[in-house]
Parts: sequence; C-alpha cells; structure tokens
Amino acid sequence: MPLPSDFQFSQSSLQNYVSCPRRFELLYILKINYPAPVSEPVLEYEQHIERGRIFHQMVHQHLIGLPPDTLSSMELDPILSEWWQNYLKAAPTTQMPLKRCAEFSLSTTLSGWRVTARYDLLAVEPRNKAIIVDWKTSITRPKADVLKTRIQTRLYPLILVEAGKTLNEGYPFAPEQIELQYWYPAFPNHPQHFRYGPEQYTKDRGYIQNLIAEIANTPENGFPLTSNTKLCQFCMYRSLCKRGSTAGDWTEMQSSYEAEDFSVPEFQLDFEQLQEIEF
Ligand code: SF4
Repeated sequence: MPLPSDFQFSQSSLQNYVSCPRRFELLYILKINYPAPVSEPVLEYEQHIERGRIFHQMVHQHLIGLPPDTLSSMELDPILSEWWQNYLKAAPTTQMPLKRCAEFSLSTTLSGWRVTARYDLLAVEPRNKAIIVDWKTSITRPKADVLKTRIQTRLYPLILVEAGKTLNEGYPFAPEQIELQYWYPAFPNHPQHFRYGPEQYTKDRGYIQNLIAEIANTPENGFPLTSNTKLCQFCMYRSLCKRGSTAGDWTEMQSSYEAEDFSVPEFQLDFEQLQEIEF
C-alpha cells in the first residue's frame, strides 16, 4: 500500500522511520492501532506525558499574555510545579527577539511531499535573526552530539528557511540567521543551542529529501523491522512483531533518546482544550 497522496511528513514520522521502518509502516500507512503499554509502570508514564502536555499549555498561555501569577495559582503536582518555577525563574525568552509566534506551523515541499513543522515558539527579529525554541519535558538531557543528528534538529531550521518568509518581511531567512534551542524545565540552566548555517542547510536538505524519496518508493511489506531490538520493549507493536510481550521500564525509556520518540507525542496543542486548564 503506497503512502496516501495527501500524506504530510513531520519530524515525528521521519524520526519513527529512522528508528524503525516497520513502525513507520504500521503507524502511518497501515494505521494499525495495537494497544499495549509503552512502558511500565503505566501510571508513572501516563503522568509524565500529561505533565508535558500541561507544561506546554502553560508556557503557551504565558507567551500569549496570561499573567504568570494566574498560571502559578493552578494546582500542580510537585514536579510540574518545579518545572514551572524553573521556567519563571530562568525566563528563557527574555533576551529573545520580541516578535513571538507560539505553536506555529510551517510547511514546505520536499521530494514532492508536504513536510510540516509545528514550532513551540519562534522568536523573530525580521531581516536579522530567528530563534526556534522547543520545550523538552524529558527527565534526561541528551548530549549535544546526539541531539545534533535528530530529525527535529535538522528539519525545523530547514523548514524555516524554506517557508518562513512571511515572518521575515517577505524575505527568506538565510540559514546563518537561524538558531535552534532546546529548553528543559528539569535542567533550566542547561539549554542546548544549535546554530544553523548554509552548509548544514544543504546537507540536511539532501538528507531529508533522500529519506522521503526512500519511504515513498518502498513497496508494501518492504519496511524492515529495526535491528535495534532494545527499542521494541518500548513499542506498542512488540507482540505483533514478535519482539517480546513485556513493556520496558519507564526510567530506562527516558534515558534512551530513541525510545523516547516512541512515547512522547508531539505536543500539538488543541486550542479547544486550552480552556480546560483550571485556575
Ligand atoms: S516492535 Fe520493534 S520492530 Fe516492531 S514496530 Fe516496534 S520497534 Fe519496530
């Protein structure tokens, strides 16, 4: 079964393909829902996912102008409360350009397919610079050389170059005007910064184009199972793939940057849900 013609790639789908082609096929082409615990203990894992979702919502509301005191008055569990206080204290956006676009989507076309990025925050000084900020609510902080190879690190600046001119007075951003920053509420003093540049842009563009062409040209049942069997313990398809039946340990999952892709969804805020935060 080929990819549906209206399929849109994202950093998440591409990263899933890189981690395990078969998982990409099951998730995005065959759309097989195969419920199984992703990691144990299930409750801790679910609480972590929920914490991440609420943190993203709170920061979004703060960025669009809700007073911090109003947000701080929410009832939060101790971990989320610490993340929020870390965010307020570190004020990671204070020095950033004043034009802010939070939860902002941009799309471009690569190898004939639509590719979309959903940015937690873009801070822009038109004709000068753009900072991409992504809030990372993991409990571990991967090393820079690991993050550098991640699809998100390679794709987000690329899409901003290709599709960001509406934010830059009608001019495309030059790659050297772009910086990407991962900010961790659990590690507020250790954000990860990546400067972009023309060489990286050319390299990334070729890499992503080849990846998309490879996926699009893969025939049905041509998506191999990952050789990294450790990932399977955190994947809901492990029984289907005959890769074991027991879910991996949640804390171990958090220390595996690849396995984390299998758990934490891209936090795409549903604006209908924003009102659900109670003050
Ligand atoms: S169980 Fe393993 S091989 Fe199967 S889809 Fe998941 S990661 Fe891939």
